[in-house]
Amino acid sequence: MPEKKVNKAIVCPICSNMSKAQIYTSVNVTVNRAMRDKVASGELFEWRCPECGHKAMLTYPVLYNDMKNRFMIYLIPKIDRFQLCDNELEEKYSNLRNISKRIVPDFNSFKEKIFLFETGLDDMAVELTKLAISQTVSKKLGGAEVSEGYLSMYDRETNTMGFTYFVGSERKPYVQTARLEIYSKSKDIINRFALKDKKLKGFIKIDREWAENILYRYKRAKQIEKLNRLIK
Ligand SMILES: [Zn+2]
Repeated sequence: MPEKKVNKAIVCPICSNMSKAQIYTSVNVTVNRAMRDKVASGELFEWRCPECGHKAMLTYPVLYNDMKNRFMIYLIPKIDRFQLCDNELEEKYSNLRNISKRIVPDFNSFKEKIFLFETGLDDMAVELTKLAISQTVSKKLGGAEVSEGYLSMYDRETNTMGFTYFVGSERKPYVQTARLEIYSKSKDIINRFALKDKKLKGFIKIDREWAENILYRYKRAKQIEKLNRLIK
């Protein structure tokens, strides 16, 4: 898929001046590598009013293609759907198999997905690991609310991965590292309990809510196994 640009009229929230801006609705980093850094740094979404110089981050849907690393991410601000099937897109790419397709609702999740797919990680296992570690962090901090977090470090040599969480209403950043074994364990759980999701068509949202559901299925299965052992 080539790059797609559209012209959009933007009204400045400060001076009300209306200007035209060129925005990308689709980027292909396989053919244009420089685009990747522009996306990751947020530069692609920066807007500056030509009249008064006011700067803002624009939010609009962007489809990100990385065919070399076999993933596509659809950033759709604030989307709350789990699955998005675009028939036109599906048909166009029906010959391309094993491409991970995700929808994300915000820029931070967008950046995280790019980072972990480029690193060759399984985002489902990462999400589950992140959830498990967030529960540990919450306990460590006396039951503090730990709702949001991102993979911020991955190092195979030192056998560690790290997540940055945002804690409490002040959203204080808190970094927690863990050994990669927990990621391997998460991968095993994914292979047992998320096979169905791996085969889903279209773009899907793999986030904390999704991971909570998988963790629930895993714990329930463990309880059933325990009961079965008692019956035998
Ligand atoms: Zn302005």
